[in-house]
Amino acid sequence: MDNFRIYNTLTGKKEIFKPVNENHIRIYTCGPTVYNYAHIGNARPAIVSDLLVRFLKAIYPKVTYVSNITDIDDKIIDASEKLNIPIDELTTKYKNIYNEDMMSLNVIPPDFQPHATDHIPEMIEIIKKNIRNNKAYVSSGHVLFDVKSYPSYGLLSGRNQDDQLAGSRVEVASYKKNPGDFVLWKPSTGTQPGWDSPWGYGRPGWHLECSAMSEKSLGIPFDIHGGGMDLIFPHHENEIAQSCGSCNENANPKAYVKYWLHNSLLNMDGEKMSKSLNNILYIRDLLKDYDGEVLRMTLLSAHYRQPINFNSESLINAKNILDKFYRALLSSKNIKINMKKIEFPPIEVIDALADDLNTSKVFAEVNKIAKKLITSKDKNQKKKYKEQLLSVSHLIGILRKDPEEWLGINKVDSDIDSDLIEGLIKERELARIDKNYTEADEIRSKLANLGVEIEDTPDGTIWKSIKK
Ligand SMILES: [Zn+2]
Repeated sequence: MDNFRIYNTLTGKKEIFKPVNENHIRIYTCGPTVYNYAHIGNARPAIVSDLLVRFLKAIYPKVTYVSNITDIDDKIIDASEKLNIPIDELTTKYKNIYNEDMMSLNVIPPDFQPHATDHIPEMIEIIKKNIRNNKAYVSSGHVLFDVKSYPSYGLLSGRNQDDQLAGSRVEVASYKKNPGDFVLWKPSTGTQPGWDSPWGYGRPGWHLECSAMSEKSLGIPFDIHGGGMDLIFPHHENEIAQSCGSCNENANPKAYVKYWLHNSLLNMDGEKMSKSLNNILYIRDLLKDYDGEVLRMTLLSAHYRQPINFNSESLINAKNILDKFYRALLSSKNIKINMKKIEFPPIEVIDALADDLNTSKVFAEVNKIAKKLITSKDKNQKKKYKEQLLSVSHLIGILRKDPEEWLGINKVDSDIDSDLIEGLIKERELARIDKNYTEADEIRSKLANLGVEIEDTPDGTIWKSIKK
C-alpha cells in the first residue's frame, strides 16, 4: 500500500508513510509507569496504537509492535514507601492489572513488552556514547545531557531553546550547566533502588529508559513512535536528543524515529483529569458499569488527534452506536459466515484508515453497511453486508459479543418471570391476528410495566429487559 498518510508531529504535516523497510514495520509506544490503577486517559494511546498496528498488520507482511513497562521511577519509589510494599511487588501487581484492563478493551498485547529494569546495561551504554560524543557531562554524581550540544533540540516540540529557558520558573539545580539539561543518570541514596555504574551507584532518568528499550527491541531508526501529546515535551524531545547523541547525529532527528504519532488527551466534562480535581476515572471502575467495547468505542469515536470530552453522554452515545451495529447482526443471525473465508474490509474503510486513521469516516462507512444489512431483503446481499460488517469489526476490534447477549434479547433479570412474558407475547400475537390492536397495545404496556421491551422482527417478536 502506498497511500497510507500519517500526521508526523516532527514535520507538522500529514505525510505519505514510507517505511524504513517495507518488509518489516517497527513501532514503539510509551507504556505505563506502574504504581497505581490505570485511568481511562492511559487507555487512549494504547487503543490508538492498537488500531494503527491492526491496520498496518493488515497491509504489511511483518509488523513488530513494542510497548514498555516503566518499572523504575521516582513516583514508583514514593508509592512503594508510602504503601510499605517492595518495589517489585508493587510494579508486578499494577503491570498485571494494566494488562488485564487492556485485554478488557480488546487491545492486542504488544509483540514485546520490555521492562526498564531489564535494560540498565543498555542505558549505561547510551550514556557512555553520549559522553564520548560530548553530548553529556558528569556533575555531582549525575550525568546530564547538554541540550546546547544538540542543534536539533526543540524540533519535535517546536520549542525554541532560549524561549524555553527564559520562561522557566523551576529553580535550576546547581549541578546543571544549563537549566534545560536533563538527567540521564542520578545517584541513589539510602533505601532508594540503584545499580552500579561508571558514575557511581544510581538509577536512570525516565527519558533514557524508552531510548534504550526501543533501540534494543527494534533497532534504530524505526518507523513510528507513539504516545500522548503530553509526552512531546520533554519526554520525546529528550529521547531524540540522547538517541541521536549516542550516534553523534546532529542534524537529522529521523536517525532515531521517522514518524511521531501523538494522540490528544481526554477531558472530564471540559476539565483536565487530575488528582487535584478529584476526577480521575480508573478503567477498573468504569468496567463495573460499562462493557470494555463501550469504552473502546468511546475512545475511537473521535479522531485520535482531537480531544475527547469523556462523560456519561459520550459513553451512552458509544453504547447506542454499538447497539445499532449489534441489531444489524441480529437481523441476519440465521446467515452463517465462515470467518476464515471472509474478505478484506471494503475499500472505503481501508481508505478511511489510510487517511491518518480517520475513525469518524470508518464509523460512517460501518453505519452504511449496517443499514444495508438491516434493510436488504435479498439473502445473497445480506450475506455480503454481514461479511463486510464482520470484517471491519474484526479489523478495528469491536462487535466481539453475541448480538443476543449484547442486546439482552430473551434474557431476563432473575426477578422477571420469562414464562409469563412469553405467554403475554403470544396473547398479543393472537390479538394482532384478530386485528384487536387496542388489546395488543395494552399487552405491550403491561410488558413495559414488567420492565420488558418488545420488538417485532421478520422472525417474530423478540424481547429484552430494560434496566431501570
Ligand atoms: Zn517513553
